[in-house]
Amino acid sequence: MRINVTRSSMPSFEEYAEAIRPLWESAWLTNMGPYHEELAKRLGEYLKVPNVSLFVNGHMALEMTLQAMELSGEVITTPFTFASTTHAIVRNGLEPVFCDIDREKFTMDASKIEELITDRTCAIVPVHVYGCVCDVEEIERIAKRHGLKVIYDSAHAFGVEYKGRGIGTFGDASMFSFHATKVYNTIEGGAVTTDDAGLIDSLRKLKDFGIKDEETVDGIGANAKMNEFCAAMGLCNLRHVDEEIGKRRLVSERYRQHLGSIRGLQILPKQDGVRENYAYFPVVIDEKEFGSSRQDVADKLKENDIYVRKYFYPLTSRMQCYGDRFAAWHTPVADYVSERVLTLPMSASLTTDDVDRICGMILSLREGRAD
Ligand SMILES: *Cc1c(COP(=O)(O)O)cnc(C)c1O
Repeated sequence: MRINVTRSSMPSFEEYAEAIRPLWESAWLTNMGPYHEELAKRLGEYLKVPNVSLFVNGHMALEMTLQAMELSGEVITTPFTFASTTHAIVRNGLEPVFCDIDREKFTMDASKIEELITDRTCAIVPVHVYGCVCDVEEIERIAKRHGLKVIYDSAHAFGVEYKGRGIGTFGDASMFSFHATKVYNTIEGGAVTTDDAGLIDSLRKLKDFGIKDEETVDGIGANAKMNEFCAAMGLCNLRHVDEEIGKRRLVSERYRQHLGSIRGLQILPKQDGVRENYAYFPVVIDEKEFGSSRQDVADKLKENDIYVRKYFYPLTSRMQCYGDRFAAWHTPVADYVSERVLTLPMSASLTTDDVDRICGMILSLREGRAD
């Protein structure tokens, strides 16, 4: 049976059907309806954040947060991420400055941030990549010292907590993605969390064309509102998300048992003080040490109807749309990881038997090496 890199979490058909039934009575389908308001409130509680602004998707949430902050100049960010992070910066007329990543957990290497700061730097946009918590304390110190905004791309970090705090409470704002492929989904959707009530107000207007009231449009906004069908899906999925994360934990532990101490394979470290969400299971394959390349591994799995992804390859700074605009940025660790990483299948619906089978195929490629 085919196994994809992930499989979306869904409530039962009956649960969702029941949830959307009232929409046929109210005919209130979008524009901050009752489900939208309820979901924002419940997500605030779940994520342990003071304010949640819901969006049509995570990308628009990030793009509009940068717009609302009226930033200009350079933004320090990571190239080891999904295209969205860098596009959101560039589409706001800002200049991304690429910081290299940590060799262990693949988040921005905080010790390399300060050397990138110039008098044009306005903000830092780090990514909690794979749900790994960035060096939030060090980033906060640097940002305070230099008067910079910090906007986290927390697209992978739904439900992650650090030292008992919701991950969305760090920095000036955080963006979450509720895309179908993420740990928690609203089909398509996203949110911004922040303790800044003024920012929430700006976002409310921007995602609704900049409309302040019936007669006043005071921002050049767009349409990025979450609709009631997505909010209803979100309310259903929120009831099950802890159980889903629990299932992911078992999958992750099984992978760790098989792949945790194999020469040439690097997996994520367990992080102290972190409530993890087990969003992804990346493995960095060193061909010389392991005996086979990541392409060999991907091909072998594909022969068996198992589909993995090269997340994240290429680096955003090397994407075709940017030509050689960012060619000067030197990020050797990000290059190294990007050229060797595979994300293995990970979802709540995977069984330990599946994981055993997948790992058996990977380990069969060691060419007789013993560890
Ligand atoms: C998924 C993702 C996004 C964009 O979220 P959408 O909801 O798909 O728009 C942004 N950044 C990262 C790192 C992501 O993985």
